[in-house]
Amino acid sequence: MTADAVTMDKIVSLARRRGFVFPSSEIYGGLGSAYDYGHYGVLAKNNVKARWLEAMTQERDDIVALDSAIILNPRVWEASGHVAGFTDPLVDCRTCKLRFRADDLENAQCGRKPSKHPGETDECNLTEPRRFNLMFETHLGPMHETADKVYLRPETAQGIFVNFKNVLQLARRTPPFGIAQIGKSFRNEITPGNFLFRTREFEQMEMEYFVPPDEADRWYAYWVEERLGWYTRYGIRPGHLRVREHDADELSHYSKATSDIEYLFPIGWSELEGIANRGDFDLTQHSEHSGTKLEYVGPDGERYTPHVIEPAGGVDRALLAFLVDAYDEEVVAERERVVLRLHPRIAPVKAAVLPLIARDEQMVSRARSLYEDLRRRHVVEYDDGGAIGRRYRRQDEIGTPFAFTIDEQTPVDDTVTVRDRDSLAQERLPIGSVGAWLEDALERPWQPPKDDA
Ligand code: ATP
Repeated sequence: MTADAVTMDKIVSLARRRGFVFPSSEIYGGLGSAYDYGHYGVLAKNNVKARWLEAMTQERDDIVALDSAIILNPRVWEASGHVAGFTDPLVDCRTCKLRFRADDLENAQCGRKPSKHPGETDECNLTEPRRFNLMFETHLGPMHETADKVYLRPETAQGIFVNFKNVLQLARRTPPFGIAQIGKSFRNEITPGNFLFRTREFEQMEMEYFVPPDEADRWYAYWVEERLGWYTRYGIRPGHLRVREHDADELSHYSKATSDIEYLFPIGWSELEGIANRGDFDLTQHSEHSGTKLEYVGPDGERYTPHVIEPAGGVDRALLAFLVDAYDEEVVAERERVVLRLHPRIAPVKAAVLPLIARDEQMVSRARSLYEDLRRRHVVEYDDGGAIGRRYRRQDEIGTPFAFTIDEQTPVDDTVTVRDRDSLAQERLPIGSVGAWLEDALERPWQPPKDDA
């Protein structure tokens, strides 16, 4: 099967069936485009975040981590330009009462005639576009007075800029250095949709890399390559990724250059992550608005405002790409199976331990002790429910790369079979070597087994 056969509906239904992602507050009829993550969704999402943080902070020594507050002093958003400019153009249709983004009508459907775009039929009656600020407002304290108005952050980046001085001093950093943050962001999107692709509440992984001004272009190119490499390293097929540089008229107010890493989602090529050269815009704005100078002063007195390169990705959107890229269907021995060919380090569960016969005490005691041993280091599942074929299929659907089966031979010679999720190859291993075997298998270089056409 090629990637083209993957549809968003198949991903949504697998995610639900296997407890990755549920529509939020479902028993109350849901809340448009809000989702809750179930057990496997949490594990997989945590793996995406862990791999990102590892690449940013553990595998290099020029980036430190941060976890800033979601609700910041509202003046932060005045300085950043969000209060005045974080808007989308909104149009209403007086006939069908639907709302659309005026700059995205070609991807929207008319409420009366879905084959047409809004504005294309005689009945359409669109208002003039109005600017609509995407920030969610709330109030601090019990009284709703104007002075108490605050915002839920629409990006994690500003929490980083306002901590620039803390990190510079306390972490004793010299440009080039970076600050990385993962956390929830909120945007009152006019048209959320396409499952996890666009929601109003989502998680971001953003890193602000502060560099000497004359090195900005070089670091910008570097981070585009670095981030592209991260997605392929964890199994996204290179043919399904591309870099698209923004035209001058597309650039945000703060940006000198931006490239999107795009993925071929079932909805077409769409942004997965943006890498922007933000120049000195943010540090200058916050210096002016706060009165605190945000600059680097070298040991010999040289001073400058660093320029910033920002790779900004979405956790949920990345997880969606990993799921889409991994989804596969095939017929094995005349039976269809659905399999998530996830990279082992993204897969929610690393291995399953399966006693062939749930009532066989010899098998069960060996299986339990293998399970107890493996779970000390990895997320491993023990499953003795139902026919073995059904148990394999359950593990295939959640993307578990390896299954260890304890069968009749195990009590005789202390060996188990290991089944490979992708090739379906089975081999026998001494039960005592399974821990080391799994350790090694999870570290091995990994190639996506799916066609990259
Ligand atoms: P888009 O053009 O899709 O609205 P953006 O260019 O506004 O995205 P950024 O502000 O650059 O997005 O945010 C960085 C990343 O955060 C995006 O690449 C995406 O992965 C993620 N992201 C942004 N908005 C959403 C959203 N509403 N839902 C899920 N993820 C999002």
